[in-house]
Amino acid sequence: MTIPYTDISQVYYDGAWHDPQAGTEPVINPATEEVIAAAPVASAQQVDAAIAAAREAFDHGPWPRMSMDERADMVEKMARALRAKHAQIAQLIVAEVGCAAGITHLMQVDNPLRLLEAAIGHARREQPERLPIDITPNPFAPDGPRSIGGTTVVREPLGVVSAITGYNFPFLLNLAKIGPALLAGCTMVLKPSPFTPFSALLFGQVAEEIGLPAGVLNIVTGGIEEGQLLCTDERVDMVTFTGSEGVGAQIMAQAAPTLKKVHLELGGKSALIVREDADVQSAAAMAATVISINAGQGCAIPTRFLVHESLRPAFAATAAAVAGQIAIGNPADPAIGMGPLIRESQRSKVEHFIELGRSAGARLVCGGGRPAGLDKGFFTEVTVFDDVTNDMAIAQEEIFGPVGCIIGFSTDEEAIRIANDSRYGLNGAIQTADAAKGYEMALQIRTGSVSLNGGTGTMSDAPIGGYKRSGIGREYGPGWLREYQHEKSIFYPIGK
Ligand code: NAD
Repeated sequence: MTIPYTDISQVYYDGAWHDPQAGTEPVINPATEEVIAAAPVASAQQVDAAIAAAREAFDHGPWPRMSMDERADMVEKMARALRAKHAQIAQLIVAEVGCAAGITHLMQVDNPLRLLEAAIGHARREQPERLPIDITPNPFAPDGPRSIGGTTVVREPLGVVSAITGYNFPFLLNLAKIGPALLAGCTMVLKPSPFTPFSALLFGQVAEEIGLPAGVLNIVTGGIEEGQLLCTDERVDMVTFTGSEGVGAQIMAQAAPTLKKVHLELGGKSALIVREDADVQSAAAMAATVISINAGQGCAIPTRFLVHESLRPAFAATAAAVAGQIAIGNPADPAIGMGPLIRESQRSKVEHFIELGRSAGARLVCGGGRPAGLDKGFFTEVTVFDDVTNDMAIAQEEIFGPVGCIIGFSTDEEAIRIANDSRYGLNGAIQTADAAKGYEMALQIRTGSVSLNGGTGTMSDAPIGGYKRSGIGREYGPGWLREYQHEKSIFYPIGK
């Protein structure tokens, strides 16, 4: 059976489909190692043409000149069209990413669409801001009559945006760029991960279906070189990127000579703090389950388990027992809890870190190898280490696999110190019977979000992003569009 959207054989720019000038690249199902399709690859000339189309659409096309409501109507059409394709998109993601079907529908498709729908609501409520009246002395006649005036702050689209995304939640990551940028009135060239090209190309079909003006959304495929062109071209005003810390730094450097705005959503090494008063069973069960989501390939997953010394043995035993119950196998099977890693290179990286953990003296309490009976696919076991110290590589580096580290602590202050002893600052979690104390601790953790006692919050209205090397800027929430807007202050006198 053909996987939905894998029959797309062209790249999309300037409102039309074009044969790929750089040929094709096989896309592999990470669970079976079978080629699911040959994906089109754009040439440098095609990236150039896509940027030109986005520039033309921004400088002379209708999109940035339409009212916010008119754009919101179009993006709402897009959201409805995507909702209608929910099942096909989920099927594609299971095959491209290897994410378990049971969680793909909700986490990879439905939640992103809810976020988009929330952004449309915020866009419709956008108003120019009128500042209070201001009285200022005349600098040329300090004793003469003063002037009185007002200011209105209007928000305008930032310009042409390059969007470069990673592979792990491809539909979410692409939609999280397209949605706010288009609502704000920007035009865009999107380049997805070469592992997941079809999750991006499908937006070309949707753009056509809803009648998006030519050049507003352009989708090119490829790897590092194509991404570099999107960062260095002087016709691009902003780069928005979701991916690894190292590539984020390269993108900043590539964008620096032309002083583009850079928006970065990067990696994490988030801590879960389990206080002495916590329900250790449920905390450990949650910890082991969460690291198995998308085989641990999630930026915000807590992978450092900071556990009060008195609970550590019980936590380790429960986490190991729960991890052992997670069914690993072909993610298309709804009974499967965890699929494979994206590629052999990612599995080698995870196995390298497991070896580093062992040799540093950490104690393996479960996993550490490849699951039995799965000869094909890039599978790995859910792995938990105990006796970890925060200076070990497994506690400091983003492994991006289903690997958790248990680190003991004795006081709340020590737990916060260890949680903050990381170059990342994306997410955090606290489990405690004293929710007020947990809240006070959350305020001291230097991360963009903290989940208290399993709270997922109203995700669709909460801004998400990183402190420190986890990123610059925020996605989602009321300020989402602002990342893609300029503010312009218009001053005017009163009484003239
Ligand atoms: P990656 O950094 O390897 O690649 C991301 C994208 O960058 C790909 O499209 C790639 O082709 C492109 N790229 C690579 N080098 C480039 C360069 N020099 N210039 C321009 N583009 C370049 O990331 P990945 O492995 O696909 O994704 C996993 C990473 O993404 C993890 O670190 C994860 O934490 C992070 N992530 C962060 C968030 C978040 O919201 N903070 C969400 C999801 C994933």
